[in-house]
Amino acid sequence: MVNFNYYTPTRVVFGKGTVDQVGELVKAQGGTKVLLHFGGGSVRKSGLLDRVKASLEAAGVAHVELGGVVPNPRLSLVREGIALCEKEGVDFLLPIGGGSVIDSAKAIGYGVASGGDVWDFYDFKRAPTGCLPIGTVLTIAAAGSEMSDSSVITNEDGWVKRGYSSDLCRCKFAIMDPELTMTLPDYQTACGCADILMHTMERYFNDQAQPMALTDALAEGLMRTVIDASLVLVKEPGNYQARAEVMWAGSLSHNGLTGCGTGGGDWSTHKLEHELGGLFDVAHGAGLTAIWGSWARYVMDAQPGRFARFAVEVLGVEPQGDDKATALKGIEAMEDYYRSIRMPTSLRELGVEPTEEQIAEMAEKCGVTAHGEMGAVKTLRVEDMKAIYRAAM
Ligand code: NAP
Ligand code: FE
Repeated sequence: MVNFNYYTPTRVVFGKGTVDQVGELVKAQGGTKVLLHFGGGSVRKSGLLDRVKASLEAAGVAHVELGGVVPNPRLSLVREGIALCEKEGVDFLLPIGGGSVIDSAKAIGYGVASGGDVWDFYDFKRAPTGCLPIGTVLTIAAAGSEMSDSSVITNEDGWVKRGYSSDLCRCKFAIMDPELTMTLPDYQTACGCADILMHTMERYFNDQAQPMALTDALAEGLMRTVIDASLVLVKEPGNYQARAEVMWAGSLSHNGLTGCGTGGGDWSTHKLEHELGGLFDVAHGAGLTAIWGSWARYVMDAQPGRFARFAVEVLGVEPQGDDKATALKGIEAMEDYYRSIRMPTSLRELGVEPTEEQIAEMAEKCGVTAHGEMGAVKTLRVEDMKAIYRAAM
């Protein structure tokens, strides 16, 4: 087990009806004027925005609003948010939504507290010196941004999607009421489950020679739980227990827990997907499932034992003659599972058909983000990235 530094400062307030505590939670953090940040309208339609406002008003906390965050959140709205917060003297950010809204708020928080051009951070030109405090009301179990240190923003100038990680942006609290996720379209529920699984898979496939009993058991238990619950939700989208399991798993999958001692993990599938999201604006979870099988087949030979263990422990595959055969069965079983939750297993199924030039563009951009090479299972360079995109067609 390699050394690790596990920091998870977010207060989790979980369960039915917890939304109504938001005003008091903001007040306890010293917030006096809040930016209510949200997406394209689901929070208005469901009545959630009104509920949050009523709770803030009851606690005597003032607010201003900025909606319009789109999936793969845009830099231009972040800049608008920074200007609004400065003009209004906002001292607390309250994103109500999923990863896109929370990430947009994190970028606004950096911009207000650190000054200068906010894209500098995502362009790795300098590091932020602060971030406005953030609390969130989560409406989709997926990205795990409610407990993570990262945020991912798309710059429309060149359509580059970049992530930036720092403890400064970690949420002070996250309100997680599984009932809020009941209004999700089935496609978004499935995309969320795919992303949750991938956050643990990226950590599970790592470069450690020795498996870690506890971390592996936590990871495998989390992955089995999400797979089971997501299959329940295909048939019964209103199943509270399954919603609750998925929501809690979403946070634990990306707060570092399932990566303790692993040295960090692989993350190639995420990096490859970020370029797809930047260029084609696809849903993050669906982009991941469209790529994963091709990545797995490309790198599997470097660690057949690990892939075989994944097959047996997570997917219930019967061990075959050797690790490689078991590993391959596992990759097939994972793709079958993706199909059963109606997620794509190729770029065509995802609805994108990149040209050779676009494949080269995505691989080059990915190479820049990865500083030339990436991957813990197997080191991938630009030519390998192109090969994986091609194989995913
Ligand atoms: P999202 O992009 O925040 O939301 C997806 C869609 O779901 C939106 O259209 C939204 O509609 C809708 N929606 C959300 N809650 C809903 C509800 N309760 N009822 C009905 N519709 C609802 O989804 P996400 O998967 O959480 O976030 C994806 C983003 O996070 C990507 O940019 C990804 O790269 C990033 N990400 C971040 C991290 C991190 O740690 N920061 C990790 C992984 C991924 P409305 O706009 O109408 O609300
Ligand atoms: Fe993700």
